[in-house]
Amino acid sequence: MKSKVYFADLRTTFTNNHTTKINSILDRTDVSQVVDKTDLVAVKLHFGEKGNTAFIRPIFIRDIVEKIIKLGGKPFLTDANTLYRGERSEAPSHINIALSHGFNYTTVRAPVIIADGLRGSDEVRLKVDAKHFSEVSIASAIILSDALISVAHFKGHELTGFGGTIKNLGMGCASREGKMKQHSNISPKIKPGECTACGKCADWCPVSAIELFNEKFRINSENCIGCAECITICPQGSVKINWDGNTEDFQEKMVEYALGVIRNKAEKSIFINFLTDISPACDCYGHSDRNIVPDIGILTSLDPVAIDQASVDLLNSQTGLVDSALKTGHEKGGDKIRGLYPEVDWEIQLRYAEKMGIGKRCYELVKV
Ligand code: SF4
Ligand code: SF4
Repeated sequence: MKSKVYFADLRTTFTNNHTTKINSILDRTDVSQVVDKTDLVAVKLHFGEKGNTAFIRPIFIRDIVEKIIKLGGKPFLTDANTLYRGERSEAPSHINIALSHGFNYTTVRAPVIIADGLRGSDEVRLKVDAKHFSEVSIASAIILSDALISVAHFKGHELTGFGGTIKNLGMGCASREGKMKQHSNISPKIKPGECTACGKCADWCPVSAIELFNEKFRINSENCIGCAECITICPQGSVKINWDGNTEDFQEKMVEYALGVIRNKAEKSIFINFLTDISPACDCYGHSDRNIVPDIGILTSLDPVAIDQASVDLLNSQTGLVDSALKTGHEKGGDKIRGLYPEVDWEIQLRYAEKMGIGKRCYELVKV
């Protein structure tokens, strides 16, 4: 049987506005079967990096939050800290960004809780016994919550071609260590020219993998466990990530992380993709380039693979906007993702997710 994906377009009337549509689409996806009274419900989204403007509007998130409250659930907005040094790499700055982007209690009616804690190390390890990983490290608030509503902003992504539900689960729910393990097979490195030899990273490292050699600090990769904490602890930003992963391995690793989340939240998760402000790159960028197609709508499903497949298909059915980052594929039916990133095979994540039993690429689109 095909998985159902529900679709609400963005046409509105006085009696059928965005709030009505979001409520209808959640009802059709049986949200009442997923959220029980007193459930702590993680609403997993991306608050947008400082300078980014393409993230999902907080007012849409409020509609989802109010639905959860009506069902007796206790929603909180959440995301995990970033691997790279930026405005969302530790909880205080991350919360400040969320608030400044409008994800505050007054607007959205739910508190912000950073899923992997103060510095990105609050995690739970889950067994997956897959090709790349035997276990995955997931942000603890995702695992300790009773239910998960994944709300993904669907857009382009330079490593995976596109970012949707699978990425929101796999990369977005990973702790810092989990993100590091997906991005790199080797330990970070200290850039000698930028290091002031203060020793802070060496004091912090949980396994004493950072050592002084010829009056310079360096990372002993034999001992490093890849927790990635030195990257954010260094006041100079001198500890760099080795971005060595190829796109195939990277996408498969991301899927294995998504598998850990899905298994943990079996029957207790719903997936939502917003096909609005479809920018060419991730919301982790400190800017948002022009959208590549006009806004399309909102999708929901209980199948994380089907919803991403349907999102790609809807994206590709559009006419691409001229003067956007699209290089090819502007025509209806043209591959917009290859039009952005010709070298990335974006189907890897969908193929591997289906192979891992996360969901199906074959779907029925139900217009709501
Ligand atoms: S990644 Fe973690 S274990 Fe490795 S050197 Fe940095 S702090 Fe130490
Ligand atoms: S914390 Fe940064 S500046 Fe200080 S020793 Fe480590 S790498 Fe060098």
